[in-house]
Order: sequence, then C-alpha cells, then structure tokens
Amino acid sequence: MSGSQHHEIVVAGGGHAGLFAALALVQAGFEDVVVVDPAGPGALAPTGRSLALLAGSKAILERHGVWKLVRDRGHPVWRVDVAGAGAGRVIYDAAEIGVEALAWGFVNERLRDGLASAWSRLRGPAGWLTGSVIAMEAGNPRRLVLEEGTLKADLVIAADGRNSALRRMAGIGSSRRTYDQAALSFVVEHEHDNRATVLERLRPSGPVATLPLGARRTGITWVDRRARCEALGANEGEALMADLSQLVGDQLGDMRRVSPIQCYPLGAHHASRYALPRLALLGDAAHGVHPIHAQGFNMGIGDVDVLVAELAAARARGRAPGGEALRRYERKRMAANAERLRMTDGLNRLFSNDLLPLEPARRAVLGALASSSWLRRRAIRHGMQVAS
Ligand SMILES: Cc1cc2nc3c(=O)[nH]c(=O)nc-3n(C[C@H](O)[C@H](O)[C@H](O)COP(=O)(O)OP(=O)(O)OC[C@H]3O[C@@H](n4cnc5c(N)ncnc54)[C@H](O)[C@@H]3O)c2cc1C
Repeated sequence: MSGSQHHEIVVAGGGHAGLFAALALVQAGFEDVVVVDPAGPGALAPTGRSLALLAGSKAILERHGVWKLVRDRGHPVWRVDVAGAGAGRVIYDAAEIGVEALAWGFVNERLRDGLASAWSRLRGPAGWLTGSVIAMEAGNPRRLVLEEGTLKADLVIAADGRNSALRRMAGIGSSRRTYDQAALSFVVEHEHDNRATVLERLRPSGPVATLPLGARRTGITWVDRRARCEALGANEGEALMADLSQLVGDQLGDMRRVSPIQCYPLGAHHASRYALPRLALLGDAAHGVHPIHAQGFNMGIGDVDVLVAELAAARARGRAPGGEALRRYERKRMAANAERLRMTDGLNRLFSNDLLPLEPARRAVLGALASSSWLRRRAIRHGMQVAS
C-alpha cells in the first residue's frame, strides 16, 4: 500500500460478518468499499468448525443478493431432534410449518471462502488490503494505521471478531461472562444418511449437537466442562467416536473424524456501544453468545441487514454515512441482541446442569413442546428467525 488512501467505507475484518457487510454494501450501491484483514482472501486452513445458518438468515442473505453466492456450500436441515437432561424429547420438523428447511449447515471456512471469493470477483485486488489495523484516530474522516501505511475512511466498520482491537482502540467497553465450558468442534463422515436432521443431546455438562453438512458428512459441536473438553480433544481415534456414538445413538452408524479437532473456551460478551461518529461495530466485535442455540453469526447477519438499510436510507436523504444512521442502527441492534444474549444464557443455565430443583422445569419445557403442535410451531418460527 503506498501513501494514504481515502475510502468511503473501510471494513476492518474479513470474517463472515465483515465480508457479508462488504458484499451487501456494494449490492446496495456503495461503490468505494475496502476490506482489511491480516489473512488474505484465499482459502483458509480447515478448523473443524461448522455453523448453522437459520432460515431467517437465509432470507436476509437472499434480500442482499448474497445467498446465491454461497448456497451450494450449505446443506439443509429439515429436522431438529432434541432430547436429554431428564427432560424427554421433542422433534421440530420443517414440514410442520411448511418451510423448505429450518436452517443450513456450513463448514466455517467454506462459508468464509465462498464470501471471500465472491468479494474478490466483485472488486478484484483493489478491494482487499492484507494487514492488521494497529491504530485508529477519530476525526473527520477517521484515520486507520496499518503495519504498512495509513487509510482514511468516511465510515469504519469494525468486524474484527470477539477480541476486537478496534473496539478497544475506540475506548468502547464490553460486559463479559466466562462459562466453565468449552466446545469441541470437528467433522465426521458416517455410514448412514443423516436425513438432514440435527441431533441435540442435552447433558448436565453441556449440549452435544450434530449439524448436517452433506448426507454422510456431519459437523459436531460438543460442549463440555473445560478440562473434560481438552481431555476429549486429546483423545484421538476410536475412543472419541465410541463416546460420540453413545451420545447420539446409532443413527449415523460407524463414524470417522475427517477434520482437525479443536477446543474453544466459551464466553459471552456485549459491547457497551455499537456506534460512535463514523464507526460501527458488528458481528462478534459487538457481541458473542454461548453456542447452545446457534445464534452467533445469525446475530451478525441481523446487524448487517439493519446497518446497510440505515446507511442506504441516509444516503437517499443526501446524508454522509457516519451520523444519525449509526445511532439508529445502535438502538435497534443492541436491544435485539441483548434479548438473544439473555435467551442463550438462560437456556444454558436451565439445561446444562444437574440441579435437581430444575429438573421439573426442564421436563415441563420439553414436555409441553412435545405435546403441543401449536407451541412447537411457535418455537420453530421463533428459533428460525433472526432477532429484530
Ligand atoms: C463452537 C462454536 C459453534 C458455533 N456455532 C454457531 C452456529 O451454529 N451458528 C452461528 O450463527 N454461529 C455460531 N458460532 C459463532 C460464529 O462462529 C461467530 O459468531 C462468527 O464466526 C463470527 O464472525 P465475525 O466475522 O464476526 O468474526 P471472526 O470470524 O472472528 O472474524 C474476524 C476477522 O477479523 C480479522 N481481524 C482481527 N483483528 C484484526 C485487525 N486488527 N485488523 C483487521 N482485521 C482483523 C480476523 O483475521 C478475522 O478474519 C459458533 C461459535 C463457536 C465457538
């Protein structure tokens, strides 16, 4: 990078949220958008992590012209089968409310690669600066310092993940909760068709969930106490598969791990501001939740949807991108995400413990859902939607 470039919008962070934001902004007619990320736009090494994109998120991606760019990389989820924690069993089925799928399963880096490739095709090499933002100065425009050179931006979008350096540079605090849990993530291939069904098994130490990535390919997110998670992760080969079979039953048949295996410590956080003049935070830079209800990136999708709509409306009124639109974005998204943070935390407390006094509540919740199709349909619709 030579000298100091000036762009209308700089997106710091080329992960899922930053890339979706960049693509949606260009689709909305913003022409001068640049992504900055220390990793280049090329394919990333496999991590073993997968994520569920809710049907509500798919609708948002479609509206922004982005779904068609990634849909071939996802696999539909038709059913979610939840059981355990002495609470009975409930099955949510897309057919019960007449929708195509409840969610789509993606391998993390394949989704990121789909978004990054689409961005490269759209903008070419000029749309991506490989480097980290190491300092930021407020001002009109904002100034970003990278290892090599500086950038000016009418609007900076901080999408640099849960340990956001830009959030810290802007002096924005965040509330944090650490769970005594971690998530083990990996991908398996198996003998039987998974029938596009998520199996979620609730246990006192945390849920274990499968996510269809292909008919005979499934992502595993196994939440457990931190120490146990690390021990499980070190447990190569058949013993781990035997433990997994015990948890999910024989529906998948023989299983074989086909990805790296990693253990992620779990926590939740919420930034105290989503916006300052000429700066907006989104995705994990703004919030992070327990994975029990597959919300994380889906909340980021909701952020992008609202931010792009507010920026486009401001532009239609002849306003610059950094002012009132950001305050409106902050108001709407902070409230919606706070509700999802409370919900995921509450679900984890209710289902991830062995407190006997809570057992009747657990049974009551799942029992009511299992026996009432009206309640189940409501729960399905709520679970599929992105908080707004
Ligand atoms: C075990 C587990 C299971 C999950 N399951 C689901 C699920 O089923 N559904 C779901 O919706 N979510 C799920 N999530 C959450 C989801 O993975 C995250 O919410 C999502 O990936 C966050 O995307 P992001 O783009 O905001 O952040 P990241 O993916 O962290 O991207 C941040 C980017 O910023 C870049 N960056 C960092 N520092 C700088 C800097 N100084 N300058 C420029 N760039 C920088 C990084 O290189 C990176 O590319 C899960 C999370 C975990 C841990």
